[in-house]
Amino acid sequence: MDVRGENCTVVPYGEVRVLVGARQGAYPYANSLLVHGSEASLVVDPSLSLVDGAPPADLVLVSHAHEDHIAGLGSYDVPVHVHDGDLAALRSREVLVAGYGLPPDAVEAFDASLREDFHVRGRPDAAGFEDGAVFDLGGRTATVVHLPGHTPGHCGFLIEPEGFLFVGDIDLTSFGPYYGDLSSSLEDFEASMRRCREIDARWYSTSHQKGVIEGGAEFRRRLDVFAAVVERRDAVLLELLGEPRTVEEIVDHRLVYRPHVEGAHVRPVERRTAVQHLERLLSEGRRVVEVAEGLFRAA
Ligand SMILES: [Zn+2]
Repeated sequence: MDVRGENCTVVPYGEVRVLVGARQGAYPYANSLLVHGSEASLVVDPSLSLVDGAPPADLVLVSHAHEDHIAGLGSYDVPVHVHDGDLAALRSREVLVAGYGLPPDAVEAFDASLREDFHVRGRPDAAGFEDGAVFDLGGRTATVVHLPGHTPGHCGFLIEPEGFLFVGDIDLTSFGPYYGDLSSSLEDFEASMRRCREIDARWYSTSHQKGVIEGGAEFRRRLDVFAAVVERRDAVLLELLGEPRTVEEIVDHRLVYRPHVEGAHVRPVERRTAVQHLERLLSEGRRVVEVAEGLFRAA
C-alpha cells in the first residue's frame, strides 16, 4: 500500500509510521500516525497534509480538538474517537471556535478560516474515551494517556509493543507550553508534563516540528527545557511587576508572543496566560500582591 500522501513523508518506527506533515509539521501542519495491527489499523490526528492521499484506516484517534490536528478528518468515513473533554468541540465547529475566546468581531473570519483553510466540519458521530482506554488492533495496542492543560481533553497515546508515546502538543518547541484557550489550564499542563516525564518509552513523538525523540533521557532533557518556558514567563512577569501594573498593561507587554506577532488571538491568549500566572503568584507564597483593586505588584 502506498501511504505517501502528496504533502507528507512517512517515517517508520517499528510498525508505527509517522506521517510527517509539510514544513516538518510546523503549524498549520502537524504530524499524524498510522498504526497497523493484524486486525485493524488506525490513524492519529489526520493533519492538513492528509487532505489528499490519506491512507485508509479503520478508526481515527484525535489527540485534541484543534484545527491543525483534524484538518484531514474529512478523508475518513470511519469511527472517530477523542477524549470526553474535547468531544463537544470535535462534534461542532461552533463550539470549537467559541473555545478560543476571540473578540466578537474576529469570530466570523476565524470560523471561515477553519472551514476553508482547515476543512473543519463538525463530527457529530465522534465518540468519547477516557484515560486508560485501550484500542486493540490485533497484536498491537494504543492506550490513551490523558494529558490535559493545553485543552481539557488533550491526550497522548502509548503504542505497544513498540513503546512509542505520542505526546501531541506537549511539543517541545521553543515557543513553550500553550495554555491560552478559554478552557486551558496551566496547572493541568504542568501535571501532564510531570506525568509523561514518568513514562518510559523508546520513542516520544510530538505533533510538530520537533518530531520524534529517541530515548527517555533525551526526551526528559528536552521536556525540562520546554517546561522552563513557564518559569521564564513567571520571571518576566515578576520583573514587570517591579512597579504596580494592571492586567491590561501585562497584556501590552506580552508574556507569550513576540512583538511582531499580530492577530485577533494575541490579546485574549496573552490575557488568559497572564491571569493564570498572576493567580498562581498571588496564592503561591504571595510572590505578588494586589496593592489596589486590579493593580498588582511583586511582593
Ligand atoms: Zn493544539
